[in-house]
This record gives sequence, structure tokens and C-alpha cells, in this order.
Amino acid sequence: MESGFSDSRLNGERRKILVIEDEMVNRLILGNTLRGTYDVVFAETGAQALEILNDQFRTLSLVLLDLNLPDMYGVDILHRIKADAVTAVLPFIVMTADQDAEVQCLNLGATDFIAKPYPKPEVILARILRTIELFEGRDILRWTERDQLTGLYNPEFFFRYAAQFDARHPDIPTDAILLDVNRFHMLNERYGRAFGDEALRRIADNLRQALQGAGGIVCRKSADTFLAYCPHRSDYGDLLRLIGDGIDKDYHARVRMGVYPNADRAIDMERRFARAKQAADRVKTSFSGAAGVYDAALYDKESFNEQLLEDFAAAIRGEQFTAYYQPKFDIHTEAPALCSAEALVRWNHPRLGMVSPGIFIPLFEENGLIRELDSYMWRKTAGQIRSWKDRFGWKIPVSVNVSRIDLSDPLLPQLLEKVVDEAGIAHEDFLLEITESAYTEDAEQIVSVAETLRESGFRIEMDDFGTGYSSLNMITALPIDTLKLDMQFVRTAFRDRNGMRLIEAVLSLARSLGLTTVAEGVETEEQLQALKALSCDIVQGYYFSKPLPAEEFEAFVREKGI
Ligand code: C2E
Ligand code: CA
Ligand code: CA
Repeated sequence: MESGFSDSRLNGERRKILVIEDEMVNRLILGNTLRGTYDVVFAETGAQALEILNDQFRTLSLVLLDLNLPDMYGVDILHRIKADAVTAVLPFIVMTADQDAEVQCLNLGATDFIAKPYPKPEVILARILRTIELFEGRDILRWTERDQLTGLYNPEFFFRYAAQFDARHPDIPTDAILLDVNRFHMLNERYGRAFGDEALRRIADNLRQALQGAGGIVCRKSADTFLAYCPHRSDYGDLLRLIGDGIDKDYHARVRMGVYPNADRAIDMERRFARAKQAADRVKTSFSGAAGVYDAALYDKESFNEQLLEDFAAAIRGEQFTAYYQPKFDIHTEAPALCSAEALVRWNHPRLGMVSPGIFIPLFEENGLIRELDSYMWRKTAGQIRSWKDRFGWKIPVSVNVSRIDLSDPLLPQLLEKVVDEAGIAHEDFLLEITESAYTEDAEQIVSVAETLRESGFRIEMDDFGTGYSSLNMITALPIDTLKLDMQFVRTAFRDRNGMRLIEAVLSLARSLGLTTVAEGVETEEQLQALKALSCDIVQGYYFSKPLPAEEFEAFVREKGI
């Protein structure tokens, strides 16, 4: 019932037989007998035999073993092979003129016996065929714990056959395919397990039918995950439709699929399917019904990210992270006046050069490393504020970015307290930027941490306003001091009149709540003038300056005055 290689194994695919025999005449006889049906490899000594077994055992279907070898007893070879669980599965037929050796060999696991002098070729062939059939049947049984529910292969069996396929067909390109059911647990919860099981059986049947004849093998990997290994094709959309046939309608479920095409044989089977899974994950939220196809760019990104994560500890130790400072200008006055700055992290990677925070911040947020990086940045920034005060008598408040991950730490207020205390600076000079989306994600927790921080004297800017989903109502209730309009929000505002009205409304609401307003990403004179006309308080952006290293920032301040 399985579609798969075992079928083709049993119907005439050429098997490979190893003949271990030191006498040339015997090799000639056996070679002539076997070559019409099988591929034959010869070993003349025990040492050669072991080498071939070691290298090729996956592609071998049978070993014919002569017991008298120049360098070794045949029995010893048998013993060594059977002692190793991996090679033990290979069937052996022993060839000898010695009747007494028979029992010993059978005890050691030989499958059959051929007496010397040799019987007629048909007899030899018949015994060999029977042994292979018998053995492959038993071999299947041994591994058979077939998946009870769907009748598909179980993973062990599947991986074994996939490896055999590779060994037998080194030149046929293959695809690793992974399928699963979107939110399968919901199906079980809502309609009961029996219903869920039925859906899985249906998918398994579809899968079998779709790949039958195409030379693929399939298994159920875990609850609702299926794997397929098959000769390369390109009609993944059609394949997915065949497999998902009736699943949407009858089971209210959606099958998703990821393909790693032309799988690289140099990487192990599990990783090939991990790549298929990665491709599938990319379509998790899409309702396009398309199959995800793994591509190298995805892989590059993955390994690039891995590299960054690996390099993190050394980067902290080696001070590869530095703070750049971007000035903010008060635009109430006739001439804009520098009033504060934002600290932005830069990573000067020894091999990759400058890596953008747009790449590594989201990565470090996912992996929790952001907390270490941020507290590092806070200490550096606090130290810088102090140093400017000591060296030049400047009092420039600087804001730092606080990731939503930092906010999940209930000890955050103490940590920040310690940072400003150790640097000996005032709370009001150390501004905290918290992104808008943090407030909408886990509002209660964030709000309570933000309240604590404000009570101890910190001022809080809501960063990226306009990108999240907070309503205008919501900001009336939040413990913040400043509203920082996201640059995208500012940009769209300048595109049409509705956008302009929206920004006007936001600015006037903020004013009525007593919030300071900052617009970021301001690049042109026109934007500056418009924001000024709308009574925006502070402006930050390339129009004034890019983020600068500390020394350049110092030069900038001296030039602009403070
Ligand atoms: P953000 O906090 O919204 O920072 C503003 C970003 O806009 C900065 O990018 C800044 O260089 C850029 N920018 C400023 N003015 C302009 C302009 O006029 N035009 C344009 N096109 N861009 C402008 P950057 O430095 O690449 O930082 C990207 C994001 O990375 C930041 O966005 C922030 O979310 C995050 N980030 C940066 N440093 C840190 C940090 O130390 N900790 C944490 N948690 N996040 C950080
Ligand atoms: Ca920011
Ligand atoms: Ca921002």
C-alpha cells in the first residue's frame, strides 16, 4: 500500500551483491551467473571485504562469503558484521565445502548456505533471490512500526529508505517536502480527536495518491506533520492542491507545504527537512495557498544570523558596539536650538564592517540578548552624559532606546536607577524611548513598569507613534511625557490632506494632554516648516544631522552652540 521504493525494490531494480572469494575460478563462475541480474563487486581478501562493507554497505543487498580466505576466517568477517547493529541487517550466504561449518555460520546469523562445488546457476540464482526477498520482507517487518493511524511509514523507516534511495540513485535530484496542518490543535479542540484523526487519514491518502507512481516515499513525522522525499519536480502548487483536496471543505483546515528542492546530498537528511520546514514556516500566515520553496537567500540569512548571535559575546567584550548620537532640535524659537540627543547603537563588526541595528536588534530581541546589549548601551550613554558635563559643562539630555523585551523584566526600574546613580547624572537627563507597539502588546505590565519609572523621575518618550495600533484614546491614559511621531507617519502626512489633518489632530491632542511632541526622520526644509506651523515641539532627522560618533557630535555641538 505504500508508495515507495520498497515496491520498486521488489520488482526488478538491480541489487548489488558483494562476493568475497579468493579463488579466481570461483569468481569467474559466480560473476557469469550473477551479472545478468545483479551488480557484482568482488573482494579477494578479508581486508578488502571489510573495506567494501564499510564503504558500501548501504547499497548492498547481499553478501556471498567464502569461508577460506588467505588473511582471515570467513567466520570472523561474519562475526564482525553481525556485531555491529548497523551492518548486521545485511544478509549473508555462506559458500563452503565444509559441512560442519554450516551450523556455526547459521548461529552467527548467515541466512543461507550454498555448497561447493557450486550447484547449477538457476539454483544459485533462486537461492539468492529468495534470500533477498525474504530478507527485505523481514527487514521491513523489523522496522515496520508503521504509523497506525495513517498507514504511512514511520520516521525511522522513512529516513532509512530515503538514504537508500540516495545511495542507489546518486544522480537523480530529489526534493525534501514537509507538510502540516495549520492550527491542527484547534481542529481537535473544536470537533474532537476522532474528527482530527479522520482529517489526517484523508491527507495521508491524498499524499499517497499524489506521489504514487512518482517514486516518492512519505511518512507521518509527528501529529500533523508529514514528510515526503521524491524525485525533483516543479509543480508544487498542483501537488499542494492534490494533497489539500477536500481538506478545506470537509475539515475546515488548511494544509501548508514547504519544499527544499534539489536537496543537497552533502547535508544530512534531517537538515534537509529542517530546510523544508523553514520554507513552510514562511507561508504560515499567508492564505495564498502557495507552497513555500526554500531558497539560498533564506539560508544565507539564517547562517548570517547565526553568525551574529555567535559573535555577540566577543563583540561586547571587545567593545565593538558603540553609541552614536543624533541631535534633536527645539523648533519653537526662531532658529532651531539643539536641545537633546538620541543614542543609537552601532556595531563595528571586525569582518562584516558596520552592521545595521535594523538587522541585529530584531534578532537580539528574539534571542533575549537585547537585554545585555541595552544595559551596555545605557551605561555607555550615561557615562557619556557625565563626561560631557565634566569636560565641557554641557547639560544635554540624551534618550536611550528601551526594548519591549527589557520591559518584561520587573527589575528594570532598579537596573536603570543603578545606571544613572553610578554615572552620577540626573534622572531627567536620561530619557527613555519605549516603542509604541510595546504598549499594545502587554499593556498592563508595560504601563505599570512605566509608571514606576516615572515615579522615580525618569521621563518617557513613546517612540514610533503611528506604527502600532494604539488609538488616540489610549494615549490619554498612558504614563508618558513625550510623543515621538514615527518617520513613516510624518512622511504619509505630507502626502495628502487627510494625512495632514491626522497629524494636526494628533499634535493638538498631545498638546492638550501636556505631552511634548517630537517628529523624527525630518529630512527637508519643507517638512520642518510644516511641522513648525503645526506647533510640533522638537524635530530630529537628517535635515540637521545623522547620528554621529561621540567626537563628531562634540564638534557638531560646538559649531551649533547649545
Ligand atoms: P528608532 O529608535 O526609530 O531610531 C531612528 C532611526 O531612524 C535610526 O536608525 C536613525 O539613524 C534613523 N534616522 C534618523 N533620522 C533619519 C532621517 O532623517 N531619515 C532616515 N531615513 N532615517 C533617519 P538606526 O540607528 O538604524 O536604528 C534603527 C532602529 O534600531 C531604531 O529605530 C531602534 O528601534 C533600534 N535601535 C537602535 N539603537 C538601539 C539600542 O541601543 N537599543 C535598542 N533596543 N534599539 C535600538
Ligand atoms: Ca528611538
Ligand atoms: Ca522611532
